[in-house]
Amino acid sequence: MTSCAPGICSGDIDRQLASGSFRLAFPPALERAFERETADERTRMFVICGSLAIILYDITLITDYLVLSDRFTEMVVARLGIFTPALILMMVAASRFRHVHVRESLAASGGILAVSLPMTIQIFSQSSDRLIYQYGSLLVIMFSSIIQRLRFAYAALSLTVMITIQLVTTALAGIFTPETFVTNAVFFVIGGILLLLAAYFLERSERRSFLFNLRSRLLHDQLMQIARIDALTGLYNRRHLEESADALWHRAAAAPQVVTAILLDVDRFKAFNDAYGHTEGDACLRRISTIVAEAAQGRSGLAFRYGGEEMLVLLPGWDPHEARALAEDIRRALRAAAIPHPALGPERIVTASFGVAGVVAPDAPLSALIEAADTALYAAKRAGRDCIWPPSGAAVVDEAPRLAAAAV
Ligand code: GH3
Ligand code: MG
Ligand code: MG
Repeated sequence: MTSCAPGICSGDIDRQLASGSFRLAFPPALERAFERETADERTRMFVICGSLAIILYDITLITDYLVLSDRFTEMVVARLGIFTPALILMMVAASRFRHVHVRESLAASGGILAVSLPMTIQIFSQSSDRLIYQYGSLLVIMFSSIIQRLRFAYAALSLTVMITIQLVTTALAGIFTPETFVTNAVFFVIGGILLLLAAYFLERSERRSFLFNLRSRLLHDQLMQIARIDALTGLYNRRHLEESADALWHRAAAAPQVVTAILLDVDRFKAFNDAYGHTEGDACLRRISTIVAEAAQGRSGLAFRYGGEEMLVLLPGWDPHEARALAEDIRRALRAAAIPHPALGPERIVTASFGVAGVVAPDAPLSALIEAADTALYAAKRAGRDCIWPPSGAAVVDEAPRLAAAAV
């Protein structure tokens, strides 16, 4: 049995994990799920990191004042008039247009803008200390790849652009001798490669945690499903009957309602097993279960395997008349299936007997409903089998005082 989330099976995840792929991309359905699951968090991180970046970026007006005093006005305009509103707009746009490419491009652009503004302005400064602005660029480059954690392709692109801006602007500023320029360039390029590796490993581990997380959720769903299904018939089991009833009676505590049940028992099934063997008996039970499940599901009922060859259909909000009509449909469908029952005679087929009962929840408990349906079922057996009890009108549980009003 393979558990499936929309478009994804636990098998797909296992294959992806086992492949040990170094690619930072999943097959399409998984990639969509990854983006869906991480998008909100990444947008929130962009807004949080962006807000932090604005504060830190504007704090460095102090260094502008100390080092680039001859270009201080330009720096004020760049930091407060250009970078700050631009980043705010980018954060608003990323929150609004929740698409991976929009978000990552905006986040990457923020870093590029942060490097280019001071590095361009320092070209025109006469300050002999402007060399120190190398550190500023380095901080922005680190911030983008490690704190903001751009998706790898965007991290690679923005790192390349930021380092290029860094090298071009320092070359234009004429701060370095050719030797120190090359040394500086080598350090920046190596730093960029290291940060790119960090971005790669961060995204890879985020993707792997996503896969482990998704797999454990799928396995949990799968286990829950197995725990409530009867393996032979595929109907819900007794355990799920208890759970469903708990939920139903809990809701009924706020808004009482009639709950009806159809309890059916296959007629002379022991003789069927004796004639055909247990394996054929199992196959017969599966066919009957399919008929019962289809009838119940089409009418928002829940079908359970109650015992060996007894099945129960729980019908919240149904009055016993409607339940009786549904039992009649199942009885006819079973007859129409014409499963031979040679032990009863050459032309005989498999039939079932039905007991119908109703209670008002939460006044009467599930046990009272089942007891009433069981009593009706045995009345149907005594009445000759292949029939429904009561023959017409509602099945009533005496101790449910309000049922009389609800039953027709
Ligand atoms: P009645 O019409 O009175 O219900 O007769 P019956 O023979 O169906 O009743 P009884 O309770 O004596 O027998 C039920 C039989 O159902 C006994 C058992 O062999 C069979 N049965 C119960 N569970 C299974 C099952 O999972 N598979 C198979 N093949 N048979 C089962
Ligand atoms: Mg039985
Ligand atoms: Mg039986």
